[in-house]
Amino acid sequence: MPARILDGSKIASDIRKEVAADVQTMVAAGVRPGLAVVLVGHNPASEIYVRGKVKACAEVGLYSEQRTPPDTATTAELLALVEDLNRDNNIDGILVQLPLPPQVDSKKLLMAVDPAKDVDGFHPVNVGLLSTQRPGLVPCTPAGVLEILKRSNIPIAGQEAVIVGRSDIVGKPAAMLLLNANATVTVCHSKTHDLAEVCRRADILVAAIGRAGMITRDFVKPGATVIDVGMNKVTDPAEFHHLFAGNAKREEAFRAKGSTMAGDVHPEVAEVAGALTPVPGGVGPLTIAMLMYNTVKAAKMRRGRSSGQGLGARAQ
Ligand code: NAP
Repeated sequence: MPARILDGSKIASDIRKEVAADVQTMVAAGVRPGLAVVLVGHNPASEIYVRGKVKACAEVGLYSEQRTPPDTATTAELLALVEDLNRDNNIDGILVQLPLPPQVDSKKLLMAVDPAKDVDGFHPVNVGLLSTQRPGLVPCTPAGVLEILKRSNIPIAGQEAVIVGRSDIVGKPAAMLLLNANATVTVCHSKTHDLAEVCRRADILVAAIGRAGMITRDFVKPGATVIDVGMNKVTDPAEFHHLFAGNAKREEAFRAKGSTMAGDVHPEVAEVAGALTPVPGGVGPLTIAMLMYNTVKAAKMRRGRSSGQGLGARAQ
């Protein structure tokens, strides 16, 4: 039987509606949560991402502003900008869009963001809060992975979870969230021996690697839930053929655009897995929804409200 497809777009849309309702209540009480996005220079991909984030803010009723220093901005100038946003009481969340130009000390800049406004959840204070199961701000993509599992009624407690990838942005926080939800967690990486064998232990397999179609059916226990975080642009016709041969819709789009977006999981996994997130339309839409959620959560925590209402109770 083919895998049940977990519809990330629908789940993200539900979360956005919940966030919008929360924002409405806060606005009625005189507080409009606000997000500031810092976009340095003119990276076309970053500009598209930032546009999406600003649009999403408007849709859920959040205040948002963009700061757009030039490509030539120095670390000192950007630190001053972040300090300014840290002090601004209308701003609850600060997002510094990565990558930054090479002359900028990215780590220093991310460390300068007030942890209470760190809606990306990358600051070591928030990393520590997550690992000690205290309320804080959780990185958006892994938080979205947990939302997909919970809202799809996939059991987590007591299950074997295997994560391929150990980045600070996805793999490690996903591991911590699954551990906090009482899964038995294994984290794999490029030095893991017998990767396919380790992955076959998984009831829940999370792929966050950055290699199109690397997780084939040999990596998957029949019936397992597979969460595909990968977003890889495929332009090579041979690679496209290896992944999507026979998929008429994809073939037509590839011919027209010369590229397609592929996950880290090979489409053949749908024949073995019990449940699977698609790419696109799986984890991707959750990332922005969770950014909206984090901005509201940051506003509630910083302005002294409980975060245990509405979505807040579920997302942690
Ligand atoms: P990353 O920082 O490059 O980390 C990749 C991880 O995969 C590393 O831990 C690496 O191991 C591991 N890896 C690489 N090749 C491997 C192999 N052959 N076998 C086993 N492990 C291997 O990437 P990331 O930022 O975590 O992103 C991962 C993927 O998720 C990318 O496709 C990215 O575009 C996507 N992503 C999607 C979203 C979204 O919104 N959907 C958000 C963020 C990222 P080592 O540590 O040993 O090098």
